[in-house]
Amino acid sequence: MSLLDGVPTVLFVHAHPDDETIATGALIAEMAARGIRVSLLTATRGEQGEVVRGPLSVLEGTDALTRERERELACAAAALGIGLADRFWLGTPPARAAGLAPRAYRDSGMTWIRPGLAGPADDIDGDALVRAPLAEVTADVAALIGQLRPALVISYDNGGGYGHPDHVRMHEAALAGSRAAGVAFAEVVQVGVDGATSGAGVAGAGAGAGAAEWFDLSAHLATVTAALRCHASQLTVDEGGGHIVHSGGQREPIITVVGLRLL
Ligand SMILES: [Zn+2]
Repeated sequence: MSLLDGVPTVLFVHAHPDDETIATGALIAEMAARGIRVSLLTATRGEQGEVVRGPLSVLEGTDALTRERERELACAAAALGIGLADRFWLGTPPARAAGLAPRAYRDSGMTWIRPGLAGPADDIDGDALVRAPLAEVTADVAALIGQLRPALVISYDNGGGYGHPDHVRMHEAALAGSRAAGVAFAEVVQVGVDGATSGAGVAGAGAGAGAAEWFDLSAHLATVTAALRCHASQLTVDEGGGHIVHSGGQREPIITVVGLRLL
């Protein structure tokens, strides 16, 4: 019995363009292959993203980067099999609470506390996601869940995968929004570099949480690689295949083994 059995629709909740592909691209491709309709909610345009050195460097810190990352997300989503009508921005209806004017949530940025663990940035924009009340963010996520009525919502674990404040915030909002709507929620569990796993069960915060279900999705490597190449402002794909290199120089394997844990 898989937690994907009989699931017709899934909503992925992510913080920035590229997270859907880096963390869950293989899972999205698998769902598309199974005939599951996948919707994607993205919270920000990743305005604070550091840009890969090269022809796109000039975009760093400019409004043009915002448009480029929107374009990159469209490219990646199409590669993964997500339809245009199934992509949503947080703060834009229908991902906006009734009665509130549409707004954009901006990337909150981050700094590295140590390799593999991010923390809050030194300067945080007034419109940044982490500056918004959690209740407002949650109401916006809940509005979209109410509209789509997915069978399952998927987002980060309570540590945001690697600690990015925007990821943690979207975990909180997606979990609370799912609970409010009575929809099942699963967190993504990643294989750590040392073979350990992240997530509530390991962090100790999830006493009572069940075991993760693991999916070996290496059959989708080519699809994920194609989607990763769309995010050229943020990462490069290693020529030998199998790895990506982030704009900051961190190198990591392309993720094709993903765990899901129902909370
Ligand atoms: Zn992110």
